[in-house]
Amino acid sequence: ALQQPQHGTVLEVNLDALTHNLQYYRQRLNPGTKLMVMVKAFAYGSGSYEVASLLEFQRADYLAVAYADEGQQLRDNGISLPIMVLNPGPDSFGQLRRYRLEPEIYSLERLHDYLQAAREATHDGAGPLPPLHLKLDTGMRRLGFSEEELPGLLALLAAHRAALPVAGIMTHLAAADDPSHDEFTQQQLTTFRRMAAAIEAVLGYPALKHALNSAGIRRFPEAQLDMVRLGVGLYGVEAGAEDAHNLLPVSTLKTTISQIKTLPAGTTVGYGRRGAATAHERRVATLAIGYADGYDRRFSNGQGLVLLHGRRAPVVGSVCMDMVMVDVTDVPEARAGDVAVVFGEGLSTSELAQRIGTIPYELLTNVSERVKRVFV
Ligand code: PLP
Repeated sequence: ALQQPQHGTVLEVNLDALTHNLQYYRQRLNPGTKLMVMVKAFAYGSGSYEVASLLEFQRADYLAVAYADEGQQLRDNGISLPIMVLNPGPDSFGQLRRYRLEPEIYSLERLHDYLQAAREATHDGAGPLPPLHLKLDTGMRRLGFSEEELPGLLALLAAHRAALPVAGIMTHLAAADDPSHDEFTQQQLTTFRRMAAAIEAVLGYPALKHALNSAGIRRFPEAQLDMVRLGVGLYGVEAGAEDAHNLLPVSTLKTTISQIKTLPAGTTVGYGRRGAATAHERRVATLAIGYADGYDRRFSNGQGLVLLHGRRAPVVGSVCMDMVMVDVTDVPEARAGDVAVVFGEGLSTSELAQRIGTIPYELLTNVSERVKRVFV
């Protein structure tokens, strides 16, 4: 229940559900396979520090964030687990050293930058830089060393073994969730193993090899390698696993009814009068959530719906900055002050994402900062 919220919208984050989901994926891991958890983007919108603390308590092996600032914030809040940074800028290498954040290095240019920073740190007596994770591009075509760039990479590593300690070798799968691309995924994994073996031969020591995301953990158990990188599934919204009711929704976005109006037939609703008039009288509730809270404007005009007293109430008219109107004609018990579920428990985030042509990741990470996170 909402306790006199200052803003009528909160994101309830259920840490028991998160622990349940963690167990679901853990049970799938081979003994010895390490678990890295993605807590980038505010832990997929759910609140990074609280989630990271729980993961530390639950003995995850690694955390991962997108930027050095995200990692620093976790350190400032007392998180001591190893943290990998997916996309550290060249200006952040000092920060990586001070906060013991391990960079993903995905190009020769970045590797040269890192080498340079390592030399400067040694020269200044600042101590060594943290070990790095080499990102290999095996088919995602986003970040990473391609197979053509491998000889250059091997040469550089061979020449600077001591200055470039490698903690991990990684790749990212482009379509681990989609059976129609399984052949491609297998090719990615084969390429990865081949490239990683060549790198380890030059290093002369083994590195943590990691490739699988949430869908990969569920669908390619033979490719767990040394570590997996769990993301969206931890937050309870991985398509496929969710259908089988194995996962529990972690984040539930809730809002309140500010006012209810009974509108005569022929009345339009909202900006631009885009909530078209109906031939019959209807009850319309105004909710305390809008696109500034991360409630996507594409939910306008019946594309979106909320759950009120267990029933679905469709959006009427355009989503406003701080408010949205829904038709509650079929929810006669609805009153001002009632709580509506926007997504999460009882109203699948995946289903809502699909209705506006996006993915649950976007809905989760769009919940804006002014929406208070409440941990239950
Ligand atoms: N690994 C990398 C490099 C990623 O960028 C992500 C997420 O974007 C993940 C793992 C986790 O993916 P998922 O959330 O689908 O589990």
